[in-house]
Amino acid sequence: MDRTLETGYNMAAETSRAQSASSGSSRTRSRDICNGNVAIMTRFVADNTVGKLARWMSLMGYDVEYDPRGARRLLADPAVAERSALVVGRCPTLARDPASEGRFFHVESPELIEQIRQVASAFPMDFAKTIFTRCQRCNIPLGGLLPLEEVANRLPPLVKEWRSNFHECPRCRQLYWEGTHTERIRSILCDRVGLRI
Ligand SMILES: [Zn+2]
Repeated sequence: MDRTLETGYNMAAETSRAQSASSGSSRTRSRDICNGNVAIMTRFVADNTVGKLARWMSLMGYDVEYDPRGARRLLADPAVAERSALVVGRCPTLARDPASEGRFFHVESPELIEQIRQVASAFPMDFAKTIFTRCQRCNIPLGGLLPLEEVANRLPPLVKEWRSNFHECPRCRQLYWEGTHTERIRSILCDRVGLRI
């Protein structure tokens, strides 16, 4: 697999997102939701059966909560449950769980590229505007553009020399910038997934 698929946008922040294995191929299609009415829901909770997909959804700009210990843990939190999030996953038992019943989006393929394609097709956004706009740690929108002089003392020398546009997470203060890593992600989304970015 392309290494970019294993990593992501954020150069500095570590991620705790687990690379989870799919838990089988059985499906509960009667519980699946992918119709137009639900597509207006823009918040997601990702099960740990789709950990990599959750990270890519976040890179693409989706509001997605993820916990490597499982979606049930997130859904047990009233603050998350009240947000009426759509639950994304491949876990058949989660589809039948009262916490996610009626709002489960079944990810069909075990392949990441196919998974991204399925989500992007079911929940289209203007990805050219939404890509790289959320903090990969906090799942909140990044702040506005910061000039180099404001962040120069927090940057590696080469970044300072070659990059000029920076964004900061208003919560954790992680800095983000575009570079070769984001170019690779864009090319994967364009060339392999088929998105227009
Ligand atoms: Zn953050």
